[in-house]
Amino acid sequence: SAKVHRNEFSSYLPEMNVKAHDRLRMESDLRKALEQEQFTLAYQPLINLDSGKVVGVEALVRWHHPQRGLLPPGDFIPLTEENGLILPLGEWVLRAACKQNKAWQDAGLPPIMMSVNLSMRQFRQHGLAERIQSILEQTGMNPRYLDLEITESMTSDVEFATEMLTSLKELGVQISIDDFGTGYSSLVYLKKFPIDKLKIDRSFVNDLDKNGSDAAIVTTITAMAKHLNLKVTAEGVENDEQVRLLRERQCEEAQGFFFTKPIPANLFENWYRHREQI
Ligand code: C2E
Ligand code: CA
Ligand code: CA
Ligand code: CA
Repeated sequence: SAKVHRNEFSSYLPEMNVKAHDRLRMESDLRKALEQEQFTLAYQPLINLDSGKVVGVEALVRWHHPQRGLLPPGDFIPLTEENGLILPLGEWVLRAACKQNKAWQDAGLPPIMMSVNLSMRQFRQHGLAERIQSILEQTGMNPRYLDLEITESMTSDVEFATEMLTSLKELGVQISIDDFGTGYSSLVYLKKFPIDKLKIDRSFVNDLDKNGSDAAIVTTITAMAKHLNLKVTAEGVENDEQVRLLRERQCEEAQGFFFTKPIPANLFENWYRHREQI
């Protein structure tokens, strides 16, 4: 086993160098991508489980890398969060999503919510509310249809979060807590924060049909949301059995591959028109 160790060690340094090199390369690619607008948004619908109607979409960013092809957010968002490029990227996402919402309404689609993910860095950015305000004005989007998704970890500084959330709510937008159940939200503050919705993390929805404790967690979150007067969306719904179990628990909304994967704007528009005979 000493031999194994030596081998591991000898490959350690060169590998680190390659990684550092990759990282620098990726960082310069990201800057170029921002200038050349290599990003696009994919949209995944949120469905009301009573009516079966589309109530909104979540905008999810993708990167059309000129050499590496289509990259999912997991491949580059973490790096942009480290190096700060998430600020210009996040602003691009917000503007593109608001433009798209306005374009759909101008094209005669019934108004639906547009959910946009905020990262920690954005949430902590000074003047975020003013920036969003000006994006809403520039794009002509009605703020009531914008839904900002934050995660539980962003609320750990309770005083700051309360202030930021209050200033965002003053814009007239909706606020949702994403991946709910995976963090450590204090239930006390959950009641005090000016939020509108909980999105149940897909890890709990995944085994809803097989795992007794996940079913109990979904039941509890849904009941709690009701008591706190919050909406609730189940994420990662992949089959009709999960839909049935969610309905049984009076979960209002669902999102997941069962309805459709995230798709480009034009495909979503076709899917939506066809589904609701618009
Ligand atoms: P998220 O906000 O939890 O978004 C939902 C993710 O779950 C999406 O992955 C979506 O494709 C995936 N998903 C949806 N339905 C199902 C399902 O039925 N089964 C399974 N297995 N997965 C499903 P995606 O697009 O790769 O995004 C991953 C994460 O990247 C997002 O998780 C979000 O945290 C982050 N992200 C995406 N776009 C943005 C953005 O514009 N800004 C920021 N800050 N983060 C973003
Ligand atoms: Ca999300
Ligand atoms: Ca989520
Ligand atoms: Ca997530």
